[in-house]
Amino acid sequence: MRLNTELKLNYADVLLQPKRSTLSSRRDVDITRTFTFQNSKETYTCVPIVASNMDGVGTFSMAKVLQEYKMMTVITKTTTPEQWKQAVGQGIKLKYISVCTGTGKLWDKDAEDYATLQKVLKSYPDVKFITIDVANGYHENYVDFVKQVRDEFPDKTIIAGNVVTAEMVEQLILSGADVVKIGIGPGSVCTTRTMAGVGVPQFSAVVECADAANGVGGHIMADGGCVEPGDVAKAFGGGAHFVMLGGMLAGHNESEVEVKDGFREFYGMSSDRAREIHGKRYRGNEGRRVFLPDRGPVSETVEDMLGGVRSACTYIGARRLKDIPKCASFVRTNTALNEVYKQYDRD
Ligand code: 5GP
Repeated sequence: MRLNTELKLNYADVLLQPKRSTLSSRRDVDITRTFTFQNSKETYTCVPIVASNMDGVGTFSMAKVLQEYKMMTVITKTTTPEQWKQAVGQGIKLKYISVCTGTGKLWDKDAEDYATLQKVLKSYPDVKFITIDVANGYHENYVDFVKQVRDEFPDKTIIAGNVVTAEMVEQLILSGADVVKIGIGPGSVCTTRTMAGVGVPQFSAVVECADAANGVGGHIMADGGCVEPGDVAKAFGGGAHFVMLGGMLAGHNESEVEVKDGFREFYGMSSDRAREIHGKRYRGNEGRRVFLPDRGPVSETVEDMLGGVRSACTYIGARRLKDIPKCASFVRTNTALNEVYKQYDRD
């Protein structure tokens, strides 16, 4: 047994410390980034905030709005080729889309999600991103699977995860991944930490994994645990190249989930509810189901969030999103928020 007693932190445990800055307005901040990926060799410009491949988030309706902000959406792995065909004819910009698969093909050569991925990439070569998503990226065969996908699609940009430690980030990048997704247990509808007692506090995981990825020329995507715009800024400050969001984008019109009595359903992809909907290849018991008050159009939430990120940049003197980690000094906090009027909040 080994006990690591070094304190690891979540987003709520830190704040960005303001610094002298010459930026006079949020509008002066450039929140786009241009990346060249290690393995695919592709160059890509975007606002690096990404909608998660969850039901109610990774939808074509979401993609249609987010593409206007140059943000990417990972379409859920259960989306059928027929649904792809319909959506592509209706103004979806393929540049801002990723197709997604699990690793079922390792056991079943006809696995539906992988067959869909192959069809989609054949029909729409402008889809440049493949997300290979599993709850636990530490399985030995996961690395082999990433290698296989890299061999089959040498010029696609592969997003792979999830993991939370430096050595696994390096391993995945050296095995063909371009962007490694970081996060085990931080999600809004995730119960891994209570059910399995497993995880690493997200802010520390991001800081350590970003450092590892930079060392081997790769990139990371902080996935899960952002509950407010400031958390997105903190993730970028901690070194995340991309930030993936589930809960912050859920509950809106673009979820493709109907409103019942003013609420929309949202659930973890490893929850019993996901299994009920998609069948037993979804593992039940490490996710919860919630009902969120209808939040209306996602564009308002996105604008708030981008405003928050721009504001963080002006406070610390980062003219470009790329400069945030260089400009960021964090302070550790015990209590970061004044919640005296929380009970009266009408928003
Ligand atoms: P959020 O932004 O909602 O805090 O986190 C979103 C992330 O939570 C997703 O991108 C995914 O990595 C993770 N996630 C989604 N569903 C589940 C689940 O049922 N269980 C667990 N452990 N994680 C989940």
